[in-house]
Parts: sequence; structure tokens; C-alpha cells
Amino acid sequence: QEKANLAARTRDDLRCPIVVIMGHVDTGKTKLLDKIRKTNVQEGEAGGITQQIGATYFEKSTLVTQTARLNETEKFDLTLPGMLVIDTPGHESFTNLRSRGSSLCDVAILVVDLMHGLEQQTIESLHMLRNRGTPFVVALNKVDRCYSWKTCKDAPIREALKEQGDGTLQEFRSRASDAKLQLQEQGVNSNIYWEMGDDDWENSDFVPLVPTSAITGEGVQDILLLLCQIAQRKLWKQLMWCANLQATVLEVKAIDGLGMTVDVLVVNGYLREGDRAVFCTLDGPIVTEIRGLLTPPPSREMRIKSEYIHHKEVKGALGVKVIGNGLEKVMAGTSVLVVGPDDEVEDIKAEVMSDLTKLQDKLSTD
Ligand code: GDP
Repeated sequence: QEKANLAARTRDDLRCPIVVIMGHVDTGKTKLLDKIRKTNVQEGEAGGITQQIGATYFEKSTLVTQTARLNETEKFDLTLPGMLVIDTPGHESFTNLRSRGSSLCDVAILVVDLMHGLEQQTIESLHMLRNRGTPFVVALNKVDRCYSWKTCKDAPIREALKEQGDGTLQEFRSRASDAKLQLQEQGVNSNIYWEMGDDDWENSDFVPLVPTSAITGEGVQDILLLLCQIAQRKLWKQLMWCANLQATVLEVKAIDGLGMTVDVLVVNGYLREGDRAVFCTLDGPIVTEIRGLLTPPPSREMRIKSEYIHHKEVKGALGVKVIGNGLEKVMAGTSVLVVGPDDEVEDIKAEVMSDLTKLQDKLSTD
């Protein structure tokens, strides 16, 4: 059975990649995520996007529609089942989340304000991503702020640039090359993505730059397609779906009527109601039965009737709210494990607690 399972795992059976948007405050992270969501709504696709706990899920069909115009020329065969984007809070008080985010994601968008260049938190995020070997693309955002920019709503960025006058292009070129230099100062080689050579694509340390506007949407298709390409071409091994549970606590929250709940990002494997889950707290490990697995309702109308949808079982990758007893002191950023029929509970406890030391080390080095 085990062998059959392994054999069934092929390049075509991938889980969706987990994407995190990082960068300095006010660079446009929230707007970019909104834009990706809204572009779809305007196309009249009610489905295709699901709000999960702490994350937004984009179905494959959505990714295909959203990148259709650009893909007329790129002709990329998208095989990913979808994409899960973590909803990082806009507030930078969540320093922890930034460092957590970078360790649990597969690929990142680092947002830079083209008008401001590299700022402090962007540099910090950059080094976190580098330390963890997470591939990323840089969005050179607010390209629409270049002098006398002509809006080309939601267009692929090269089409939009063709419409601009010489002065605008000159400003764009000069600001992009400033950003490139600043990245170089941080030890990062980069280039506008369509000017990268084959060698640059081969070099896993080389970073593609994508000019974007989170307001008018130019370049958003480009960034989506690029993320899909990176995930499919470079990350397929780590994206092969497997049944072993890999899950991380995103947040611990008290909810009216539910008590203390834990928002969990399930990267791989299953979580089931009734599972004996092991969590990490500062006071030691806790073992508790999963009493509920919840996700938000698919539409607003349903939101009136019920706050959440209950699941018997969830499969990674997705974000889910877990209810159970004794979750008050669970630490965000640590792993969740389940005690299987052949497991020694003490081994699982030890494994979960090993995270705490890792997390503390990370926080002190970040
Ligand atoms: P965050 O703190 O990184 O999440 O940044 P926000 O998404 O909240 O954006 C910060 C500010 O920049 C807001 O006033 C946005 O309207 C503005 N902004 C974000 N992206 C763009 C863009 O592409 N073009 C322009 N002109 N403004 C933008």
C-alpha cells in the first residue's frame, strides 16, 4: 500500500503552493491581495476563490482566467491545483507573523514601493527569506505613480509599458535600476523578469522583479503567472502531496460561543474530528481531542445563518479553525501533530516541543 501511494505521487499530483506577501508597511501588500481577489470578482466569477482561516484559496480555474491574457504569449501549461495565499495583517505589530510566515510558505512576494526603494522591514523580510531558502519574487509596486502613467487596467505589465511615453519610461527605468542596486547591496542579484537570461533562471538565488500596480492592476497577471511557474518548475518536489500531517499554528483566538480556538495552516496531510492532537505551549505539550474543524462559509448570505462550516476531515493545504479543550496557551508558529495508532504519545510530545526551541532561536536571530 505504502509503495503504491509513493508511486501515485507524481509531478501531476501536487498540493497547492502556499504564498506569503511580505514587505515594509504601506508598500501595498493588502491592496495587492485585494486586487488579486477583486480582479476575479470583476470577471464575474463568483466561485474560484475561497476565504479560509488566515488564508485565501485560489482555484486553478481562477489562476487560469486571471493570467489568460499574458498566457496567450507565454503558453504555460498550468497544472497546479490552486494557490493558497496567507492573509498577513497589514499591521506591522505582527513581527512574529512575518518571521513565521516566511518559514511556512513555499514561495513569497516581497513588495517594494517603487517610489521609496528598499525599506527597513523589506530588508528584514529579505534576509528571513534568504536564511530559509524560500524563493521569492519582488513586486516593484506603485508603478502607476511614475510621472504621467497611462492606466492600462489589469494589463500584463509589458503591454502597459508599451503605452507609456518616454518620460514615464525613463522614470520607471531609473527607479527600477535603483531598486536593483539596493538589492545588490543586500547581496541579492535581480533583474526585471523578462530581461533575465537562461542562466539567471537556472540560478536559484537570482530574483525576478515584477513591476505592479495594486490599484490599477498592471502586472498582477505577471506576478501570478510567475509564482505558478516557479512553483511548478522549481518546487514540485516539495509540493508533492503526502498524507503525513504537516501543520502550523497561525493564531490563537477566543471566539464567542466557541471558547479558545486555534487557527491552523495544514500544509500537508489530514486533520480529522476526534484526532488526538498535540500542541506546544510555554508550559509544555498538551494533548487534546479535536472537537471541531471550521472554515468560513462560502458566501455572505450563508454568513447570516451560520458563522462557520464544520468539517469531519480537512486535507492540506488549507487554513482551518480548530476547537478543543485547553488551547489557551498554545504558541503561534509551532507545529501541530496527531497521535497515530502506532505512535508513542511521549515521542509526539517531544517532537512538538522541539519547535519551541527552534522558534525561540529563529526569533532571536531574525
Ligand atoms: P500595506 O501596509 O503594505 O498592506 O499597504 P496597503 O495595501 O495598505 O497600501 C498602503 C497605501 O498605499 C494605501 O494608501 C494604498 O492605497 C496605497 N497603494 C498601495 N498600492 C498602490 C499602488 O500600486 N499604487 C498607488 N498609487 N497606491 C498604492
